Amino acid sequence: MRSTCTNCKAEVEAWNEQCGGCGFTLVLEPDEKRRAKFLRGPALGALLFTQGWTLGARVYFWFLISLIPVVGIAALLLNVIFGRRWSWKYGGWGDWESFVKRMRLMDAIGVGWIVLLGCVYLYFRLH
Ligand SMILES: [Zn+2]
Repeated sequence: MRSTCTNCKAEVEAWNEQCGGCGFTLVLEPDEKRRAKFLRGPALGALLFTQGWTLGARVYFWFLISLIPVVGIAALLLNVIFGRRWSWKYGGWGDWESFVKRMRLMDAIGVGWIVLLGCVYLYFRLH
């Protein structure tokens, strides 16, 4: 989903409030503003379980990258920062609601995954 700059007619990505072509500040609808904010937010799920997140977010290219040792760390960081934007851009989501639902789910799974690992670790430490 893109919008068009009202000043120079250049295409502007959904998460930008400023036109990359002429620097014109776009007036976003409240709904668009909320979306832009969400897209610029960190993908917590990608931080906690990168591979699963990239699959769930439909950024399959990054799934392959994240499997490579060392490079995977960079992929992790990039996906935490840009993951939501990439997912929205390349994931082929039909509508905004299903995209947000999936992002929330992936974040929740990521957190659950870490909690589970923590519990397993404690279990073996204490027994
Ligand atoms: Zn412009």
